[in-house]
Amino acid sequence: MALTNNNGDLLDNYYGTNIVNGVVTGPHPAPVSPCDQSTTFNKWGNPYDLQETIYWIIKMIILPILASILVIFIIILPTFENPIFVAINAVLAPIASIYILIVARESARAIWNRIPNDLRVTSGTPLNDISAVQFRIGFVGDIMMMNGHILMFDPAVVNFFNDVNNVHLIIGNLEGIVTNDKAKGSQQRHLPVILDELVSVLPPNLKWTLCLSNNHSIDYGNKAFHTSLIDIQKNPQFNVFGRNDMNNVLVQTYPISIATGTEWSNQDTWDCTSRYRNTELWTYYSNTRLNNFNRFNILFPHWGYENERYVRKRIQKDAKALLNGGTQTYTRYQTYIRERLDKEILPDQNGRKWDLIFGHHSHTPQPIMSVCDHVNDIGFNKLVAFSGGNFTSGAWIIRRKKHIYGTIMKCDIGPLTNCPTKLAVGNVEWRTTVNVRSTCGDKKYKTVSIYSRRYRTFAHYLWQFLLAVGIIALILLLRYLDSIL
Ligand SMILES: [Zn+2]
Repeated sequence: MALTNNNGDLLDNYYGTNIVNGVVTGPHPAPVSPCDQSTTFNKWGNPYDLQETIYWIIKMIILPILASILVIFIIILPTFENPIFVAINAVLAPIASIYILIVARESARAIWNRIPNDLRVTSGTPLNDISAVQFRIGFVGDIMMMNGHILMFDPAVVNFFNDVNNVHLIIGNLEGIVTNDKAKGSQQRHLPVILDELVSVLPPNLKWTLCLSNNHSIDYGNKAFHTSLIDIQKNPQFNVFGRNDMNNVLVQTYPISIATGTEWSNQDTWDCTSRYRNTELWTYYSNTRLNNFNRFNILFPHWGYENERYVRKRIQKDAKALLNGGTQTYTRYQTYIRERLDKEILPDQNGRKWDLIFGHHSHTPQPIMSVCDHVNDIGFNKLVAFSGGNFTSGAWIIRRKKHIYGTIMKCDIGPLTNCPTKLAVGNVEWRTTVNVRSTCGDKKYKTVSIYSRRYRTFAHYLWQFLLAVGIIALILLLRYLDSIL
């Protein structure tokens, strides 16, 4: 499926990567960079804004203070006669109290930010009645670096995109850049082999559409970002977008627009990437050459917060403002901070709305929610998948359990049966995926497979909770022994 920019130029022509008989052709023979070609980057950049930084400070200070108060209560209140019991208690009590705090905090936040069951989208259930399936689009979340693993795909994942209902377009977020340079610290980079590996999941005659706008895009500086972008685009099985002059792309033969922007960057200078900010988002929308009413606008944002399996209310409100134009009530504090950062997402004054959102960045799958909207007084549903989690992941020591899950999704798009001038989502299918690690000799593999069990938000905290309960039971047992000895 060919993609163009707003002027109708094919991406290969626009980026100057259209190579015929070894010669670069097209209207832009040299790569046009809208940002400088600097090679500098900030190794210790803060990936978050003021609001999130304040939140982190509170979390990092308040939590330890609470933990120490708990420890005092647990250590001081039970007085042991036996000095060995005193020593055991002094070691175990802090561990138990920290685990209890983490579990309590995460559970409370998951409950507070919970999305009601009746708004959750069930796989295989039509979201709307559409008169014909005219387009089918597939989504994956973050494509993370493989850390020396060979990337493979289970046939069930390949078949998801390539069965009788095969997709016309498949889109994912390539975190970081493609380079042979080494990754230091938190830098994200893929070796060039990732492109061949990714192609192995594609149905025949299909290209990947990769978003390059994320918090790791500028980890190696502007120049490396730009070089990587051109190198990927040169591969005939890839299209890329997310540079600040290519914040949205259009399907050439069907009225679909896909836009992206990142809410965060690990670097201070990130002019090269398109951004998730109120004023800019609506510009991405209005730029499109397909300015008719019957157009389907997809937003593919790099947003939200890492490692969270729930969706903060602020992001839920953003999504509603973008999808149904409803006025959102942010708290005073949120408004104060977000106004100043141009990040208070407001409904568009001209009544423009997005039709579908598929987000990424959390590295953990998040819920898929339906949002009501109206056209000509007819109600219909839109969809937001808050985060696709990690489609590929090389994690195997740090966060080897947390960062291996993702959501893959495909949607039918066509005219609403009771309002044929409006394109909407019909059937939606999604699966949870898992990166399964295996070794053979000195080779290490990660196979992206379908996760057959139910992905549970709380499951990862269960062992911490059980450990804390076990420790408290042990302390109580020691108290009993202490009293009878
Ligand atoms: Zn990210």
